[in-house]
Amino acid sequence: MQNKIQRLPEHIANQIAAGEVIQRPASVIKELMENSIDAGSTHVEVNITDAGKSMIQIIDNGVGMSSTDAVTCFERHATSKISKVEDLFDLTTKGFRGEALASIAAIAHVELRTKRAEDETGRLVRIEGSQVKINEETVCPNGTQFEIKNLFYNVPARRNFLKSDKIEFSHITDEFLRVALAHPSISFKLSHNGTVLYDLRDAVLRRRIVDVLGKNSNDRLVPIEETTDIVELHGFVLKPEFSKKTRGEQYFFVNDRFFKSSYFNHAITKAYEGLLKEGYFPSFFVYLKVSNHKIDVNVHPTKTEIKFEEEKFIYSILLSSIRQALGKFNISPTLDFDRESSFDLPLSMRDQPVTEPKIAVNPDFNPFRSESSRASQGVGNGFTTAIKNAGFGKDLNFDQKDWASFYEIKEEKPNDPIKLDLNTDTNLDFIVKGNYVFIPSQLGITVINARRAYELIVHSELFKNFIVKPLDSQILLFPISIELSRTQETLWMDNELLLRQMGFSFSLSNGDLQIEGVPEILQDETIQPCIEEILQTLEFEDITVRDLAQSVLINIARSSAMKRMDLQNKEYTRQLIVRLYELGEFETTLDGRKVVSSISLEELGNKFN
Ligand code: ADP
Ligand code: MG
Repeated sequence: MQNKIQRLPEHIANQIAAGEVIQRPASVIKELMENSIDAGSTHVEVNITDAGKSMIQIIDNGVGMSSTDAVTCFERHATSKISKVEDLFDLTTKGFRGEALASIAAIAHVELRTKRAEDETGRLVRIEGSQVKINEETVCPNGTQFEIKNLFYNVPARRNFLKSDKIEFSHITDEFLRVALAHPSISFKLSHNGTVLYDLRDAVLRRRIVDVLGKNSNDRLVPIEETTDIVELHGFVLKPEFSKKTRGEQYFFVNDRFFKSSYFNHAITKAYEGLLKEGYFPSFFVYLKVSNHKIDVNVHPTKTEIKFEEEKFIYSILLSSIRQALGKFNISPTLDFDRESSFDLPLSMRDQPVTEPKIAVNPDFNPFRSESSRASQGVGNGFTTAIKNAGFGKDLNFDQKDWASFYEIKEEKPNDPIKLDLNTDTNLDFIVKGNYVFIPSQLGITVINARRAYELIVHSELFKNFIVKPLDSQILLFPISIELSRTQETLWMDNELLLRQMGFSFSLSNGDLQIEGVPEILQDETIQPCIEEILQTLEFEDITVRDLAQSVLINIARSSAMKRMDLQNKEYTRQLIVRLYELGEFETTLDGRKVVSSISLEELGNKFN
């Protein structure tokens, strides 16, 4: 019988390897910029056309290559950066695998011009599909220039898979900024289709960050610094009031290398606890220095995870130093978003217990029936629409018994201090300030945190829906792509069934999660944060499926409540109040944040003593 096994030709092996290293134009930019830094450059220029699909040019003033190296560098496993196994454990360079150039040369047209200071002339090498087409002397400045054209010209599947120029270019900017922020002492320039977008001179770190964020950002930065035997930490966090609705400005570096870590991210979020508005994320630029022996960067060539031997220790250092820094700049005591409106209790009263309202509820109340009858009366154009969007207005064959046991309705206590009379709710008196609704009552005043109320109502409705059937999904016109770490990928896929039942439809391609459909209640700007929250839930909570389902529902409800609310619309707010009270239990959100607070006349009276 004939033998079947054949050795793959080198260019095919390279093409396969390229699939791992080079996923999109941004990967080329990352690899080539890192090579320039490893070559000791002090200036690196990146010129792009058509988001890198037509041309990527990188020019540096580093050490350059000899005429022989200018060809050898394209071979697989050709590297000048490590020569023995031990080097792997003490990496001081970005690259070490010797894969990037071989990969790029396998799937693009590459032109290299390079010259060392000690050589008279430079070298020009042109390679197409791993074949050397030109190799000759040339006149060029000291340093190295790479020109990459027609990326993926021979891998149509990859080429077709590329996103719009806008998306691909945003990946390029991400990579460019990660490298630029890791190396403030090197100057960088980025141009796209002839327009200069970033021209970053060499500078101290603070200056580099300000150059990236924009000139008004200097006052927003709070320095952080801490030195221990295990880790040296420095960098800047942004004052809480400049937090963002996306995670865009969150940077971790270790030994000048960008990385992502949801674990350390959690430490920072915790340090900001109580200082951030709901749905906002802190911005930070955190630089760690750790002995190379205590980290493992070798997880995956394109992934941005790094393993830390002492991650628990680093977590607590991060938490304490950022907390301290925010406190030092007198930020913590002056900001409390829970009391952002004019409703401000005097200090002396803050510690006094506040009695919360217990409201009479009708156990026969059917949210679906009453919602559709209200809708048919033509009232509530705002809130009713939101409820309808969530599928609440649909005629579900829904048995109350199913959920009554989940939400036990408490008996009314006879001596409740504050009571809302639901029978007269059409005349409900209230005023709105910011995110708060104030309702006068015979015994005092009740205050509702509207966003949390909305969240609680949505959660309750989602929950009732979910226990009878999977949640309705809306297909996205433009699927959203989210880069996942390997752990996140595993966690997400481990819970695939649950997530699909929650209304998410998705696929995985090359470590990116493509979100194709989401629960109906989510709207454009609330989708991304919701998915990020779910990822965090999956990562940090070692819990049963039932609890996980509950947490994901909370994530969805909370994210849906980040939308703009129409509180100035009286009918909208009235329905918000009524529906909240109809829930029966509404004092806190399911994860324990206060929704309703009340102050009795007696307490008010004390205020005038
Ligand atoms: P690695 O960076 O892992 O060594 P690469 O394929 O990225 O592998 O590069 C191969 C080799 O080519 C490098 O080790 C380096 O010697 C050389 N090289 C690549 N880019 C440059 C550059 N801009 N300047 C000088 N030498 C370079
Ligand atoms: Mg490299």
